[in-house]
Amino acid sequence: MRIISLYSYNYCSNTFLAVSNNECAIIDPGQPMEIIEEALKKYALVPKFVLLTHGHFDHIFSLDNIRQKYSIPAYIHEEDNEMLEDSFKNAYSFFFEGNLALKSAEKTFKNEDIIKIGTEELKIIHTPGHTKGSSCFLCDNILITGDTLFAEGIGRTDLYGGSSEAIFRSLGGMRNIEPSDEITIYAGHGRCEVLSLALDNSIY
Ligand SMILES: [Zn+2]
Ligand SMILES: [Zn+2]
Repeated sequence: MRIISLYSYNYCSNTFLAVSNNECAIIDPGQPMEIIEEALKKYALVPKFVLLTHGHFDHIFSLDNIRQKYSIPAYIHEEDNEMLEDSFKNAYSFFFEGNLALKSAEKTFKNEDIIKIGTEELKIIHTPGHTKGSSCFLCDNILITGDTLFAEGIGRTDLYGGSSEAIFRSLGGMRNIEPSDEITIYAGHGRCEVLSLALDNSIY
């Protein structure tokens, strides 16, 4: 699996393209549509579906445009699907006036589901805490962590569905991910390049 990072300089989440052969999944389309379209064209990729690490507004800004333009479904953890159509639950109304209410996702996943991209597979690891359905995506030694784990810290737990107890339990469980000494992390905000962070006691 090859990851193409679309780095964000503002509050929008990082967007990633998870690529196998010429197919890809668009992960967390928080970036503007033009940036995502440009990357798909530049690398000649066929997007097959959207994967969401969780349901917060800053990770879904371009979701409806993408679903419309490419006619592809969105996947999210079953416990976060309620967030997409609800400005309170997806936290948009916590920061802005007005609404961000999208269609719910076409498909939901749960812990340990396997999702195929091209000829490769990605595994869902449910890591609740930042939201109820927050999930990380593991493929070989690549881990996409959304807002559960950043280069410089962990996700907030004070918004709808958040739980500090749950996030610490989830982070503890991430120590069991194999191969634990060589995981490359792609986080939902801030530095999204290779972090090569060992999932050991240094996590928190
Ligand atoms: Zn975020
Ligand atoms: Zn979030």
